[in-house]
Amino acid sequence: MRSLAVQGVLPRGDLELLAQVRSLAHWHTSHRYFSHCGHETRMAQAGYRRDCPSCLAVHFPRTDPVVIMLIADGDKALIGHPHRLAEGVYTTLAGFMEPGETIEQAVRREVMEESSVRVSDVTFMKSQPWPFPTSLMLGCVGKAESRDIVLGDNELEDCRWFPRDEVREILAGRHPEGLHVPPEISIAHWLIRTWADAEA
Ligand SMILES: [Zn+2]
Repeated sequence: MRSLAVQGVLPRGDLELLAQVRSLAHWHTSHRYFSHCGHETRMAQAGYRRDCPSCLAVHFPRTDPVVIMLIADGDKALIGHPHRLAEGVYTTLAGFMEPGETIEQAVRREVMEESSVRVSDVTFMKSQPWPFPTSLMLGCVGKAESRDIVLGDNELEDCRWFPRDEVREILAGRHPEGLHVPPEISIAHWLIRTWADAEA
């Protein structure tokens, strides 16, 4: 599913349908039993609910919010290389929201944990379902309040401040180190390109 999305071999509408189905199917296979009473649950409402016939509890498909953020300090952007991505791929920082957090707090916490950079203003830009299996990406931009990078929580292998010109080179496939960003379908790509295209 992820390969189909990244390679762009399907029309967008078909891809969105498939993503919806894929996410729901994952939920059904991972929620066959109610974790509280242990009874097997039953599908209801055309697959958008699972009911426990024993204690009558009802369950709905889950969505996991993830903050993903372009952190900028004037004309430089904070972009890193996570261990999980292919060599040379640099992207925006991201992480799962925690219970009880606002989007803004999650952005500041994640950036602090991963890079030790302090963030002040956070602006929500747009969202994107990322059903691998059930994420909802919340794309934000944030303003850096500090510059020193100290990698933390073992998420990133590298993280740097990239000047806007260098980000434009990466996007154009002309970076001297051969760095590149995630594919166009990803919100990370959109966040990076939108920032790079803006005037300083
Ligand atoms: Zn039950």
